[in-house]
Amino acid sequence: MSSIQRQIRFESDRDPGFADEIRAMPGCELIDRCIQCATCSGVCPVSTYMELTPRRIIELTRNGFKQDVLNANTIWICTSCYECQVECPKEIGITDVMYALKTKAIQAGVEPKHLGPPVLFKEFYNMVRKTGRMSETQLAVRSFIKSNPMQMWGMKWLGLRLLKTGRFSVKLEHMPKPSVLHTALDHADRIDGRRAK
Ligand code: SF4
Ligand code: SF4
Repeated sequence: MSSIQRQIRFESDRDPGFADEIRAMPGCELIDRCIQCATCSGVCPVSTYMELTPRRIIELTRNGFKQDVLNANTIWICTSCYECQVECPKEIGITDVMYALKTKAIQAGVEPKHLGPPVLFKEFYNMVRKTGRMSETQLAVRSFIKSNPMQMWGMKWLGLRLLKTGRFSVKLEHMPKPSVLHTALDHADRIDGRRAK
């Protein structure tokens, strides 16, 4: 059992506005319906590796325990398979809550700096914002360099085979008028910024 699981929580640890911030994010509106049945934790294929199971994430989130949920490895281990969301008897958007918490963790600057998923998350956003397109090769290389360069070295032969067979391409495409996309992303960022306040 990890230290985060053993920790006793106190009323003073709560951030009263945090639950409302999450409830206001898309797909997260129904967290108060949770009956703590743990179906989500039971069906999650990776819950064994999580410091807090999906059931506990929902309970701590709706009670405002911001630091617990943002610092747990759970949100980065979640593979977004949607199994929990499909099986939840109360139709709670558990996967959407995981996405919302990832966004909050990045905004708060508490994401693990050298773990693959948060690096990938940011590199994907930066590439799409800049070019309007996503290059799998560039994304993989940039993410490995920033998170685990040695792992990239170990996968060099696989990368070369993918390039040879045309499954990977080094070409970086640009959309013709990225200003349209920038307008949409700026709008989304403004909404996120307002929610974060
Ligand atoms: S399956 Fe739904 S209702 Fe049950 S604990 Fe998980 S979130 Fe709550
Ligand atoms: S979406 Fe995430 S939390 Fe839900 S079952 Fe899949 S891995 Fe687990």
